[in-house]
Amino acid sequence: MDNKILVINCGSSTLKLAVFDEQSLDCTATGLAERLNHDDAVARIGQIDGDIPLPAGATHRQALEAMTTALADSGLLEGAPTAIGHRVVHGGENFREAALIDDEVLGAIDACASLAPLHNPVNLSGIESTRSLFPDVPNVAVFDTAYHQTLPPKAYLYAVPHSYYRDWGVRRYGFHGISHSYMLTEAARRLGKTPATTSIISAHLGNGCSIAAIRDGLSADTSMGLTPLEGLVMGSRSGDIDPGLFDYLKSKGIAQDELHHVLNHESGLLGLSGQTNDMRTLCELAEHGHEPSGVAIEVFCFRLARYIGAMMASLRHLDALVFTGGIGENSTRVRQQTLDNLKLLGFELDDELNRYGGEFSDGHIEGPGSRFPVLVIPTNEELVIAREAARLANASNGPQAPG
Ligand code: ADP
Repeated sequence: MDNKILVINCGSSTLKLAVFDEQSLDCTATGLAERLNHDDAVARIGQIDGDIPLPAGATHRQALEAMTTALADSGLLEGAPTAIGHRVVHGGENFREAALIDDEVLGAIDACASLAPLHNPVNLSGIESTRSLFPDVPNVAVFDTAYHQTLPPKAYLYAVPHSYYRDWGVRRYGFHGISHSYMLTEAARRLGKTPATTSIISAHLGNGCSIAAIRDGLSADTSMGLTPLEGLVMGSRSGDIDPGLFDYLKSKGIAQDELHHVLNHESGLLGLSGQTNDMRTLCELAEHGHEPSGVAIEVFCFRLARYIGAMMASLRHLDALVFTGGIGENSTRVRQQTLDNLKLLGFELDDELNRYGGEFSDGHIEGPGSRFPVLVIPTNEELVIAREAARLANASNGPQAPG
C-alpha cells in the first residue's frame, strides 16, 4: 500500500482536496467540491470521469466522505492516508508554525474564529470531518498567518490606542503566508542561495492579493492586515481605503453592514470596472476598448507598484521581485504595467521573457539592464501543506528503531 498525504482546504462553500505520495511528494489526485450547503452542490476528482454524486445541500463532511470514497474506489487512496494537512486561515498570535492537531490546538483555532469568522469555523469543520472519518490518522494545521509572525512591531502595529492591541489583538496579521513562504524557498533555489540568506518581495496576485517583504528568510512586512481586506486592490475587495469613508457613507444612508459587504464583495476590480472580478476577462475587455476595464487594471497595477516601493523599506538588499497567483503567473500586461511605474527603482522587464512568463528562463523575466531579478513562480500551497503534514506526523511518531 502506498503511503499518501491528504491535503484539505475548506472555503465557505468549497472544499479542495489533494493527494500526495508521502515519499516523492508528487501530487497524485486533486478534487474540488463547490456550492456546498446549496441545492446544486457538486464535486469532481480530476483523475475520475464525471461528477461525484452529492446529496442536495451537501455539507463539507458529506462532500469529503463522497470524495474519499470515490478516491478509494478508484485506487487513488488505498486505506487511510498517513497524515492529513489542513489549511487554516487564522492562527492569531498562537501559531508561528504548523501544528499537530490535538484538542488544545482545536481550542486555539476556535479562539481565533472571531478574527476570521468566515474561514476558521469552516476550517474546523473540515478538521472534525477528517478526524471522524480517519480516527487514527494525525491531522496537521498549516496556517496562512503563521509565516508572518516574524513581523516586527513597527510593521504589525496600527497607530491606534495600544490597548486595542493589548486587550483585543488588533494588529496586522497578514495572510497568504503559505504561498509567500513557498516563494522564498523556490526563489532561493532558483537563485542558488539558501532561504535564510535570501530577501525577496513576493506578490501573490489571485482573487485575493497580497505582497510580502521577506528579509533573510523571514517575513518583515506584508500588505494584508487584521483581515484579508487591507492592502492591494483585489478581485472584489477594495484593499486600502480611508476609514473616514464609513462616516461619510453613513451620511448617505449606507449602513456599516452594507459597506462591509460592498468592500468585500462589490469593490476591487469588480467595483471599478462594473463588469467582473476576473482579470483575464478585464484584460480582454480593455483590449476591445472598454475604458472602465482599462482603468480598473491601471488602479490595480498602480496600487501594486506603490506597495512594491513600500516593501523596500523593510529590506537591506533585494534578491528578486517574485510574481505568483493566477494573475501574477499569467498576466503579461499586469506585470508590465506594474513595473512601468517603478522605473526609478531600476526594474526593467524583457518583453519576450515576460510574454512567456519566464517559462523558458527558469522564471526570470527581467531585462539585461534591470537592477533586480524579476521572477514568475507558480505557487503550490498544497505541496507546502503536504510537506508540513508529513514532517509533523513523522515527528509525532518518534524515531524509528532500526529494523
Ligand atoms: P484564487 O485566489 O481563487 O486561487 P487564482 O490564483 O486562480 O485565484 O487567480 C485567479 C485570477 O487569475 C483571476 O482574476 C483570473 O482572471 C486571473 N488569471 C488567470 N489566468 C489569467 C491570464 N491568462 N491573464 C490574466 N489573468 C489571469
